[in-house]
Amino acid sequence: MDGIFADFELVILPGMTHWQHPRFFAYFPANAAPVSVIAEYLVTAMAAQCMLWQTSPAATELETRVLDWLRQGLGLPDGFHGVIQDSASSATLAAVLVMRERALAWRGNAAGLPGQPTLRIYCSGEAHTSIDRAVWIAGIGQANLVKLPIKGATRAIDLDALDAAIRADVAAGLAPAGIIACVGATGVGATDDVAGVCRVAAAHGLYVHVDAAWAGSAMICPEFRELWSGVELADSIVFNPHKWLGAQFDCSAHFVRDPESLVRTLAIQPEYLKTHGHDGVINYSEWSVPLGRRFRALKIWFLLRAHGLEGLRAMIRDHVAWAQALALRFDADPAFEVTSPPILSLFSFRHVPAGVADLDAHNLRLLNAINDDGRIYLTQTRLDGKLVIRFQAGAFTTTEADVASAYDVVSEIAAGLA
Ligand SMILES: *Cc1c(COP(=O)(O)O)cnc(C)c1O
Repeated sequence: MDGIFADFELVILPGMTHWQHPRFFAYFPANAAPVSVIAEYLVTAMAAQCMLWQTSPAATELETRVLDWLRQGLGLPDGFHGVIQDSASSATLAAVLVMRERALAWRGNAAGLPGQPTLRIYCSGEAHTSIDRAVWIAGIGQANLVKLPIKGATRAIDLDALDAAIRADVAAGLAPAGIIACVGATGVGATDDVAGVCRVAAAHGLYVHVDAAWAGSAMICPEFRELWSGVELADSIVFNPHKWLGAQFDCSAHFVRDPESLVRTLAIQPEYLKTHGHDGVINYSEWSVPLGRRFRALKIWFLLRAHGLEGLRAMIRDHVAWAQALALRFDADPAFEVTSPPILSLFSFRHVPAGVADLDAHNLRLLNAINDDGRIYLTQTRLDGKLVIRFQAGAFTTTEADVASAYDVVSEIAAGLA
């Protein structure tokens, strides 16, 4: 073991990206609150496989309990039931499979897709690639994922275009199955009008899945819930406690209004998986694609008990306020352009010095110089074809001074390049 540990420190650690660093401003956070790390140690030590109620009753009972705490924390109504999926991608896949089965009168699993109506799924061009992949894996095909234009400062799906696309598909003999709404999409935080999407969906009998993988954590703060107003009308919602909330990776919370349709899509019960003599128990493996399940609820239990919703709200409010203050500093500096306004703690910017012809190449050079410098970590995205630099504050250990330092580091390095 001494040799293994020595090599771990020598070879592995220097090659790791430090996601828990207070000046990690790239991608989205993948927080690991120390209490959730302790819960993970215990889970690892018990090493239980929690696929059925009977294979670890406390794990199932706790999952029901803590998901209901989270549901209440987010302000979702009573009718939603939660399950932990390993990732938002898995939750979205499960939701797309439900859309498929519902639209095919539950014949897809049994008969396969040949000879069935051509299914159609709708989202905006801002939606996460996990939606494309869910549509591929569900056998619906990229060609039947209809990506609609966006409108306005929130880069929301154009509801008129959505409604028109559904009508045109119906007229053409295709079978609309569902809509995926974005709340805080990955690029620059694009957010659909969830109430409007649900209204259009209801008019056509479609299933709605809301992808709030990152922004969902902030919905524990009542003042931010306007961002997903109307969410109570959705059928399915995913957010990742492993992103901003602080539950050690991985841990994705999936809420559905009608668990029956999820179970009808995914449950299979050979004799060896039956739990005899315990009618009415929940077997969460029937709510997800994988059969085997880790005990993920324990880290939510530790997290919520140690920090309380109030502690987590204070952290998220700080991140939002600090990021917004930082965006104002960039905005006030004529050498920079804030290219998308803060959505919670995420905004984008670029350096626009006079006399630089190729701003994309210049900003990529700036980004690489910032990351080579190593004091802060940022990533890029494309916004309406332009290369822009993303900033998000969300690490558990981030302080106001860490966030403020981003302006100093970026402007110092940018001045050196010019
Ligand atoms: C991170 C993210 C995902 C993917 O989450 P995984 O849990 O890694 O699958 C999906 N959608 C959005 C908006 C995200 O930010």
